[in-house]
Amino acid sequence: MKFTPEFIERVSEANNLVDIISQHTQLKPAGGGLMGRCPFPDHPEKTPSFSVSESKQVYNCFGCHKKGNIFTFLQQYNGMSFREAIEYLASRAQIPMPQMNPEEASKQDLVAQKKKLLGRVNKMASQYFHENFKRLSASHPVREYARKRGLSDQIIDTFQIGYASEEWDGLVAYLESKNVPMPLAEEARLVKARSGGKSGYFDIFRDRLIFPIFSMMGDAIAFGGRIIQQGEPKYLNSPETLIFHKGKVLYGLTQTAKYIRSEDQAIVVEGYMDLVSLYQAGIQNVVATMG
Ligand code: ZN
Repeated sequence: MKFTPEFIERVSEANNLVDIISQHTQLKPAGGGLMGRCPFPDHPEKTPSFSVSESKQVYNCFGCHKKGNIFTFLQQYNGMSFREAIEYLASRAQIPMPQMNPEEASKQDLVAQKKKLLGRVNKMASQYFHENFKRLSASHPVREYARKRGLSDQIIDTFQIGYASEEWDGLVAYLESKNVPMPLAEEARLVKARSGGKSGYFDIFRDRLIFPIFSMMGDAIAFGGRIIQQGEPKYLNSPETLIFHKGKVLYGLTQTAKYIRSEDQAIVVEGYMDLVSLYQAGIQNVVATMG
């Protein structure tokens, strides 16, 4: 739905960009404005180059050149859509959302409902993979791999690391037992319909160590799978879906955000394993880019 400029202005005026940004970095008065270390995890820095103008309600980073207003900040920092940013700020300021016409409202409802369903399927899949891992015998190659990389049970739990078995329909059968419609699981990019006139579905992730990718809200939104034995590709990642936008997500941030905040800097690595290994070694202010 389109918001009127008046509504957008009302929401924006009822919130202060400084309060929102101060949740993520410490701002101090400097040269008529406010300065702090850049809050964005992909731009760690020791010398503040992130400026905020309270009077203009805008921010500008002289280091990474991110800039904008309260809406773009929520979009860039939390991966919200414009609509989600408006909703969040309106509810924060206790401003009721405008009424939509029924057709628009039902379209919005459908998208919101689909997102919720996809989230639920991902959560089930994440639990399934994680339980699979925990059931592996100590001599299983995947267990051995995890041990060689020094992954403790605690780390496995913290990052909900899992295992997709060799079966072609392990996840299919599990989701079916939970009454998940297969077209929905296909939309979550977890299964695929068989081709060549055959009916049924098969698992996309097979015989892989699984790293669930979480949203800032802590929900599993996608998966990365690393092959342990023979096979290609070495890493298989979920493609983009309604709830997963690669460029907007940093792996590990759900677990590491609090350490990044307290250290006031982030180490950026590439890849799940590098992140988990550093975390395990006690370096916890770390995030991984999603390639
Ligand atoms: Zn920056």
